[in-house]
Amino acid sequence: MEEKKKCLCGCSDVRVVTCSGASNVGQIANQAAIELAREKVAGFFCLAGVGAHIKGMVKSAKEADLMVAIDGCPVQCAAKTLQHAEIEPAIQIVVTELGIEKSHEIAVDKKYCSMAVEKVKEELGYKRPDPTSCLNRGEKVYDYTE
Ligand code: SF4
Repeated sequence: MEEKKKCLCGCSDVRVVTCSGASNVGQIANQAAIELAREKVAGFFCLAGVGAHIKGMVKSAKEADLMVAIDGCPVQCAAKTLQHAEIEPAIQIVVTELGIEKSHEIAVDKKYCSMAVEKVKEELGYKRPDPTSCLNRGEKVYDYTE
């Protein structure tokens, strides 16, 4: 059996999905995932592929070491989409729970986006005792088998 690739600190392959909903909070969730990917905290994963039951994408999502779901509001469409595919997100963030009111003005306030990003990092800190020690930061590069 092929050995799974891991980064040197063993906490590789953190992935993030978002609801990307048609509201300010849905778009804050989406922009937060973009920032997390840019900072190489987590790989941005296509949730629509999971919702569409694309076999390879569901398989790939199941292989993540740690899945983060960012939802705009308590309806939690992202987390539920994962759960329908029998994938339990290790971390669930709901943007409205950060004190941001939902509206249908599709505007992303950078300050609110940063709050969501920081919340994910905080939660990852709980899961990973020293996240700064990770040399890989969410990118699958290292391979113990090589
Ligand atoms: S979680 Fe809320 S904001 Fe996101 S898609 Fe669902 S209803 Fe819309």
